[in-house]
Amino acid sequence: MNSSHHDHHPIADSLVAHNKEYAARFHDSELSLEPAAKLAVVACMDARIDAFAVLGLNNGDAHIIRNAGGVITDDVIRSLCLSQRFLGTREIVLVHHTDCGLQSINEAEFRKELNDEIGITPWWSVEAFDDPYDDVRQSIQRLYMTPFIQHKLHIRGFVYDVTDGLLREVTLSFPDPDMLPDQDSASTGIA
Ligand SMILES: [Zn+2]
Repeated sequence: MNSSHHDHHPIADSLVAHNKEYAARFHDSELSLEPAAKLAVVACMDARIDAFAVLGLNNGDAHIIRNAGGVITDDVIRSLCLSQRFLGTREIVLVHHTDCGLQSINEAEFRKELNDEIGITPWWSVEAFDDPYDDVRQSIQRLYMTPFIQHKLHIRGFVYDVTDGLLREVTLSFPDPDMLPDQDSASTGIA
């Protein structure tokens, strides 16, 4: 896991070369700042998940928020809060997956390892987990609990299977989504 940084030949120059070709046939200049599908996706950064292809999305359709595990961290809540309040998204889709790198990490051991090696324990949570389905449930619960996410009616969570490309939905029995209407709907009385 701790490979030397000397054994990688950087590819940034080739990325820049590809970008010139991309810009030469650029056709997305008319896209709106607001995502066309009013959708925010929170997904793991796993290199095998092509979020646009997996979900049939086009450029401009959705905010794609990614981190290790696709977990709901404070920074993800920050992005979702801005996404809903300023850029009009009204639906959240979570995508975790099988064979996630976080499944093989022991959180306590890793924290100790870091502290032993560099003399400081991370002030962030590693967010390691065993079961991706449970982790999706945990993430949905966090979305329901945060006050910074206003629109909670349309939240769905999935586990992407890296062996067959299929999304499998994760169901949640608690809390009851019916008890959590959009906070801007008239029935709640909340402005
Ligand atoms: Zn992952």
